[in-house]
Amino acid sequence: MSRFWSPVVAGLSPYVPGEQPKLRNLVKLNTNENPYGPSPKVLEAIRAACDDSLRLYPDPGAEQLRQAIGRRYGVEPAQVFVGNGSDEVLALAFQALLNHDAPLRFPDITYSFYPVYCGLYGIRQQTVPLTTDFRIDPADYLPGAGKGAGPVILPNPNAPTGRALPLGDIERIVAANPDVVVVVDEAYIDFGGESAVPLVARHDNLLVIQTLSKSRSLAGLRVGYAIGSTALIEGLDRVKNSFNSYPIDRLALAGAVAAIEDDAYFQQTCAAVVRTRDALTADLHGFGFEVLPSAANFVFARHPGRDAAQLAAALRQEGIIVRHFRHPRIDQFLRISVGTDAECHSLVQALKGIF
Ligand code: PMP
Repeated sequence: MSRFWSPVVAGLSPYVPGEQPKLRNLVKLNTNENPYGPSPKVLEAIRAACDDSLRLYPDPGAEQLRQAIGRRYGVEPAQVFVGNGSDEVLALAFQALLNHDAPLRFPDITYSFYPVYCGLYGIRQQTVPLTTDFRIDPADYLPGAGKGAGPVILPNPNAPTGRALPLGDIERIVAANPDVVVVVDEAYIDFGGESAVPLVARHDNLLVIQTLSKSRSLAGLRVGYAIGSTALIEGLDRVKNSFNSYPIDRLALAGAVAAIEDDAYFQQTCAAVVRTRDALTADLHGFGFEVLPSAANFVFARHPGRDAAQLAAALRQEGIIVRHFRHPRIDQFLRISVGTDAECHSLVQALKGIF
């Protein structure tokens, strides 16, 4: 605590990064990274971009990438905004679009950065409890359901539950709140959810945020993007240009374009993750776990007879890192990222030793 800090900074918890396996051969199933490497075409494009042109600033408009995303998702480049990971895109959306008179609405169990950004940017929040079976109930976001009519942010699939909302439910929420922004955070959408991007053509209050960190295996490159109406994109641009007019660096631009364009590799690796997730779910059921239906690259599971924190510690002893949350409603769950078949096999072997 320093006397120079603002009250907001004093209230923030220091960031504790997930454990990074450096020394031992740990199986890292705690941060939802893709177990497969990025497309070879991405690596080739980044290598090719490593030349003297690095002395030059990158394209402030990220034109080539916005065009590639536009082509891939059937939108105009003017409907695309690019940033350093979706965390940055989210931060800019909070500042530009979600700072409304009425509080921002989001689930009580969701991505932990939403309340943090509310604190940082002075945005009031209204958390909406998940149902008893850990679903988002769309009715809770329709007029008359809550107290206010503030903007909404929802991850689809939700994190850390992995449960997805059907597109029809997303559209009902977006259509019922035409005067405020509805952000759908689609970090995990490619592992089984239905993207809301096609709704952007009909709803100018919808902003869809995606990332290259998960389904395109590029968490290390830090690229995320938003798709929405030109009015929403211009709002994001205004805030971004006020503190850093260069969205992402030259190497990230080159790699991201190649990643978006290599659809075959993307489809293949997503399908592999989904297959392993389904096999892992069956294995966990075999040990007596309850596993929430997941549309993401992780599963959220609890065991009726075992304490989750102890289970996480026992797995750690076996060299396997999974994620345990201290939030009282979910502290009996483990979130397990889907690894390779071999990593998931190691997990199953470790569980055999524990049970
Ligand atoms: N949204 C959700 C729901 C997430 O889980 C994450 C990853 N932790 C992010 C956004 C941010 O991802 P990135 O900044 O790597 O794009």
